[in-house]
Amino acid sequence: MSDPVYLAVALDVPLPGLFDYAHDVPVAPGVRVRVMFGRRAMIGMVWAVRQQPQVAPDKVRAIESVLDDLPPLPDDWLRLAGFAARYYHHPLGEVVLPALPPSLRKPSAYTGARSAGGPVCRADRRPGGRQPRRAASAPGTVAGAEAAAGSPDAARGQAPQLTAHQQAALARLQALLSGGHGVALLHGVTGSGKTELYLRLAQQVLAQGRQVLLLVPEINLTPQLEQVVRGRLMPDAAAGAPGLAIMHSRLSEGDRLRAWLRVSRGEASLLLGTRLALMTPMPRLGLIVVDEEHDASYKQQDGLRYSARDLAIWRGHDLGIPVVLGSATPSLETWRHAQEGDYQYVSLPERAQTQPLPDIRLVDTRRAQLEQGFTPQLLQALEARLRQGEQSLVFINRRGYAPVLRCPSCGWVSQCRQCTAHTVVHRASGRRAVLQCHHCGDTQPVPRACPDCGDQDLQPMGRGTQRVEEFLAEHFPQARIVRIDADATRRKGSAEALFAQVHAGQADILVGTQMVSKGHDFAGLGLVGVLNADAALFAQDFRAPERLFAQLMQVAGRAGRRAAGAQVLVQTDYPDQAVYQALCRHDYSGFAQASLAERQDLGLPPFSSQALLTAQAPRLADALDFLLAVRDCAASLPEAAGVRLYDAVPLRVVRVARVERAQLLLESTRRPALHRLLNALLPRLDALAGSAALRWGIEVDPQDI
Ligand code: ADP
Ligand code: ZN
Ligand code: ZN
Repeated sequence: MSDPVYLAVALDVPLPGLFDYAHDVPVAPGVRVRVMFGRRAMIGMVWAVRQQPQVAPDKVRAIESVLDDLPPLPDDWLRLAGFAARYYHHPLGEVVLPALPPSLRKPSAYTGARSAGGPVCRADRRPGGRQPRRAASAPGTVAGAEAAAGSPDAARGQAPQLTAHQQAALARLQALLSGGHGVALLHGVTGSGKTELYLRLAQQVLAQGRQVLLLVPEINLTPQLEQVVRGRLMPDAAAGAPGLAIMHSRLSEGDRLRAWLRVSRGEASLLLGTRLALMTPMPRLGLIVVDEEHDASYKQQDGLRYSARDLAIWRGHDLGIPVVLGSATPSLETWRHAQEGDYQYVSLPERAQTQPLPDIRLVDTRRAQLEQGFTPQLLQALEARLRQGEQSLVFINRRGYAPVLRCPSCGWVSQCRQCTAHTVVHRASGRRAVLQCHHCGDTQPVPRACPDCGDQDLQPMGRGTQRVEEFLAEHFPQARIVRIDADATRRKGSAEALFAQVHAGQADILVGTQMVSKGHDFAGLGLVGVLNADAALFAQDFRAPERLFAQLMQVAGRAGRRAAGAQVLVQTDYPDQAVYQALCRHDYSGFAQASLAERQDLGLPPFSSQALLTAQAPRLADALDFLLAVRDCAASLPEAAGVRLYDAVPLRVVRVARVERAQLLLESTRRPALHRLLNALLPRLDALAGSAALRWGIEVDPQDI
């Protein structure tokens, strides 16, 4: 009998390191194996072959089987996953396996992908029926996309004549294409025709037989873009040539697997997707485009808290291929790179079509007579657009009916039982109003009387999209009003249906959250009214003004794409704030310059790197004690030199779902110093934590502080 070989296997368990298993022959890194972990069967991925196990050989179990349904994951993919694990200080197995489509990492869902005719996907049979059912022709699914390709819409695949600015920008981006790795920031005002440039670049790369990865922030943006891409770049798709793949979190497991397989086998040459598409193997990748690169949704907020934009840049560098970042309001990190010359700066200063940017005005609410939060000015403007048959958008970044329910007699306010947060009044048509917690999701019926004093006249305070919709319907009974927010679009396909209604001109007033602000090209929109923007001015997070500016620029950019005379009215109590002043001038660079100067003075990113350690425990005191111990421990390490340790503080919403949370921020002007400290510190944390009830997590480059 020959000696066993030892395989170091990555498993999706919250433990650092790799796990040794024995086998009789070596297995290549990047191959999935089925193993027993404790009493559980799991899918792991071979990471390395070892001569000697790291535990006693008689303790090493044999693997159950080698899954040979797929070729090994390619080297560059393994490098990317390895980098992500190191950079984000996250267990390798928790990086590698979640990066695969779910069907490839479940012991029960062996795919048999090698069999003739493509994958036979057990995941399609969803035990328990927990997956949303796929509407037969929902756009965004493979089936929907193919249906769309046959529609007359996709036939308008005419390339427009580029504007002079576009031509100049394209020439500079093309130079990038021929030069190996490089990053370009395509800074173009809203409506400047960035998409057209992505298409031209993609076309050129596809013509060389290479693949293109096009990342977008929002699932809801994929259908519109998908049609354009299909019409322009995949003229043969209707004839069955599989050129385009779509990937986002609303795909069924089966569709996600099929898209992943087609891309990783090189059968699909263009992958359009949200952040989770970044980790797809692409054997001939030649270009990565990150549209709206500043968008917060590129950041994963649980598990591996990665930035898809940052990993895209690393991947481009690793592969020696260009990366194009597009935005009207680049993140300050990216802006600084462009200023320092690390990234090429390419700008589109004007809209592609002759329409000017909308006129943005502030409406001072301090002395105004408000009606349900609306100034007379905004109501008159809405009225005027209605008369002219133009669409309007009322933007309020708060969903639900009202942010809190209050008792006027005793001051009682509705609170979540499990969180330190108010519950939000939700009123869906035809159903009883409920109180919902936006942190834990807990839902309660609205009480008929005040639980403290019995007063029956409980009042909703403030307003969200539902209340705005209700008020507008009363105020403008003749208007067709469409609300688009996370609640209205929960069912699969409903977002597409609502957007289609707006695009088809079957809506007069659109009420929406940030969901409508991104990317959408609303042809008939003449007016945007912004309510409640001020809340963001006084947020603790140092990035709040940057986000507010980007969001308002984006939402303003939805207006006037076809017709001149478009207007944006921003209601505010603070018209003198720099953010608003810059907004009215459409002055991104002025705003960025001032913000960067401020950040530099305070030593904040991008002039420093940060990592955020969060701790959760049933009692806040335990979370804080742990972080204090961590802080002491860190301070005692030689690696702490050059790293600033902030105080441990409770999170703004301390308790969520009965767990209390605190955080400790670490910061350094030198990124390597920060990572050295984390490498020295993190292995000691479990011992410091002591009890299993205390959980901790680390986030590198945190976006919400
Ligand atoms: P951005 O992504 O920069 O906000 P889009 O790519 O959505 O802008 O373009 C805005 C609009 O201008 C789209 O309707 C697009 O079809 C149109 N467009 C882009 N380039 C041209 C061009 N060269 N000529 C005419 N229309 C164009
Ligand atoms: Zn009361
Ligand atoms: Zn709650």
